[in-house]
Amino acid sequence: MEEINLEIYGCKNCRLWQDAKHGVPGEGPLSARAMFVGQNPGADEDELGRPFVGRAGKYLTKTLLEFGIKREDVFITNIVKHVSPKNRKPFDDEVRACLPYLIAQIRIIKPQIIVLLGASAKETPRMGGIEYIQVIHPSAAMRFTKMREKFRQQIAELAERLQQN
Ligand code: SF4
Repeated sequence: MEEINLEIYGCKNCRLWQDAKHGVPGEGPLSARAMFVGQNPGADEDELGRPFVGRAGKYLTKTLLEFGIKREDVFITNIVKHVSPKNRKPFDDEVRACLPYLIAQIRIIKPQIIVLLGASAKETPRMGGIEYIQVIHPSAAMRFTKMREKFRQQIAELAERLQQN
């Protein structure tokens, strides 16, 4: 994983590195049973080089803990590893250029469950033997009551599944 991280820090395989301060490979234990995948790092993540550390990330961390899932027990990453200008959606060619890193991360971690954070994480490659769950993006859950209720229900179900296996 360390090698993948170093490759990401030096990667110029698409244009996104140009405006970024830091590559954001992702973080978490290699033994993680659940892997969370978002679309791309935002400004806070770019600043610190860590995934999901802004408001939405803090909300995600807090909600996970409420249901007994410690952030340090899961692996959190994004489809693309550098911030995009004005936080725009990454272009298809940028996603294609970056996906080998995510595929390599999944192969190393071999999670039991991959949690797709929002519809924008849909490009996450599907691999056999892994259960995929899509949940509402934490930033939407923070803002809208109905989505928050649904999000909490989804995280509760995830916690249950992780306890069962
Ligand atoms: S977003 Fe991915 S492919 Fe593009 S420069 Fe960063 S690490 Fe490389």
